[in-house]
Amino acid sequence: MQDAPQFQSPHSIDLTETFDAIVVGSGAAGGMAAHALTVHGLRVLMLEAGRHVDTTKTLKSTEWPYEHPRQGYMPPDTYVLSNEDYKKHNPPYAKTFGRYTNVMNWQQWGEGPDYTKDLFVNEHEHPYTGTKFSWVRARALGGKTNVWGRLALRLSDYDFKAASRDGYGVDWPISYADVAPYYDKVDRYLGISGVVENLPWLPDSIYQRPMKLNDGEVHVREVLSRSGRVLTPFRLGVTTDGLQHNKYRHRCMGRGACQRRVGGCDIHAAFDSPTGLIYPAFDTGRLVVRPNSTVHEVTLDPKTNRATGVGFIDSESRKSYTAKAKVVVLGASTLESTRIMLNSKSRLYPEGIANSSGHLGRNLSEHVMGPRVEGFYKPRVGGERRNEDGRPGGFYIPRFQNLDAATRSKDFIRGFGLEGASGQEMFPEQAVLLPGFGRDYKRKVRDHAPATFYMYGLGEVLPRYENRVALDPKVKDTFGIPVLRFNYKHGDNEEKMCRAMTASMQEIFEASGLEITKVSGDRLVEGSSVHEVGTARMGADPKTSVLNPFLQSHDVRNLFVVDGAGFVSAGCQNPTWTILALAWRASDHLADELKKGNI
Ligand SMILES: Cc1cc2nc3c(=O)[nH]c(=O)nc-3n(C[C@H](O)[C@H](O)[C@H](O)COP(=O)(O)OP(=O)(O)OC[C@H]3O[C@@H](n4cnc5c(N)ncnc54)[C@H](O)[C@@H]3O)c2cc1C
Ligand code: SF4
Repeated sequence: MQDAPQFQSPHSIDLTETFDAIVVGSGAAGGMAAHALTVHGLRVLMLEAGRHVDTTKTLKSTEWPYEHPRQGYMPPDTYVLSNEDYKKHNPPYAKTFGRYTNVMNWQQWGEGPDYTKDLFVNEHEHPYTGTKFSWVRARALGGKTNVWGRLALRLSDYDFKAASRDGYGVDWPISYADVAPYYDKVDRYLGISGVVENLPWLPDSIYQRPMKLNDGEVHVREVLSRSGRVLTPFRLGVTTDGLQHNKYRHRCMGRGACQRRVGGCDIHAAFDSPTGLIYPAFDTGRLVVRPNSTVHEVTLDPKTNRATGVGFIDSESRKSYTAKAKVVVLGASTLESTRIMLNSKSRLYPEGIANSSGHLGRNLSEHVMGPRVEGFYKPRVGGERRNEDGRPGGFYIPRFQNLDAATRSKDFIRGFGLEGASGQEMFPEQAVLLPGFGRDYKRKVRDHAPATFYMYGLGEVLPRYENRVALDPKVKDTFGIPVLRFNYKHGDNEEKMCRAMTASMQEIFEASGLEITKVSGDRLVEGSSVHEVGTARMGADPKTSVLNPFLQSHDVRNLFVVDGAGFVSAGCQNPTWTILALAWRASDHLADELKKGNI
């Protein structure tokens, strides 16, 4: 495995050059754009707000808790927001915890957050306002892909054409056939592990070796198959066989840190944007990477209605700069790209660049989650101990509602999937599920360690015009850039879906003879899924959409937005594999149009 390359110093980057493209952000979206555009021979400047953290050195995936001075926990001046904090307080969340120097999002909760603390924003410096929203923001090269949960799923025409199926909202202007070749390219280039199931509503990928289900999971798979439902190994954005074409990544060695929250993989078997996309793009000699560069606006020539580049602030020196390019590609994550656009006001676009439709910031969507059932697979109580968290994922139960007349729900439209895992983990989480104390209790904890079994649901949040972000007229971040104000709420469909998730999970446990020790039906606060999409949606009609089907602005032809902002709806599948596929498709289109002189 090759070490991370050294990027040139910011001072040696010639900002008088007009690049072919500027890519803003370096997560799944920005990384993919940089990869695809450099393959096309374009000279690209990547501007990333965060630092270049070498995660090969910092994640320490095999370090034991006793090898770390605080067992992996953060220093005492840091506060990690809990789900309860998000429920109890309103944004900006850091204001309640002023005595801590650093306040971090809820995903930093759990074992080992000290390894990932440099990857996320300090909420004191980056506030937001409005309604409750748990907004998890990475600020480092690679963004959230450095720690993502790796569940890599495709959307299908059940999602792209959902409006035609149930009459709610609008269809995507593209169908599965448009994206399928790009999903295939992503599978082959980045590596994905899983099992072919032939489900039309959850298309298969081109898989490398799957993770093995353990005996409890195989048992539940068999029980579910009797009612036509499926339990399949996690479809993982992880290379299990290795990738000959990538010298920065190693195949999965099943070493266990995947279960440490927040995960990350220091040998990069799990896809992350730096090793999977950015370093190989850098090696072409056509990519210039400038970390510590917070973009605050897209600059526009009002005479030509063309983007000329971006304005950015050096996150360390706090000096302002501009950079120029023939095309600007935003991939700063759904809400940050939207914020940059809203902040890019001009005479032509007083409500934000490319916002003649008034849809910018609207239709915010994500996944509703919270319901969870936990318990034990009894045949393994007192059984053999195994290294079962030495695998990067557990199992997934694909959506089984609203697929046809037989599965139609009376209560809600669209669907949810169930994620879960079971067996022995390094941290004995089952301890909190068991009653008792003393010697007997300790024996019970040891005996039950191999038998744990849990599931939780993720469901589609309906896109709603009124669910939106806008700029706060008063509050600014540490760089003086206006922040987002949320006006976003889950609705009745999401509440009903949560009830159905809880009931379905209980039913699966009971039908499989699993012991239930805990049922939680509570919905987590809005935003908790970390799967925000939809605030600059694509569409055929410029009056009701911000981007065209190639993620290109209807209004400003040389502006592209390649992250989840372009989604029309969320589906119930985790979004990253689709972001990657759509960003690749958009980048191919961009390069083609540039070559033809159309942009
Ligand atoms: C703990 C966790 C688990 C997850 N699990 C899954 C999962 O199992 N499956 C799945 O599909 N998804 C999962 N996700 C979500 C996944 O990480 C995101 O969908 C994906 O990273 C989105 O890619 P992106 O490029 O749009 O945004 P990001 O990855 O957030 O990257 C955006 C980048 O832009 C930079 N940036 C922001 N603002 C600016 C600016 N103004 N100027 C310059 N740069 C800027 C940021 O610093 C960041 O590096 C998970 C996320 C987390 C945190
Ligand atoms: S189990 Fe595999 S993907 Fe997870 S940290 Fe270990 S090597 Fe990386």
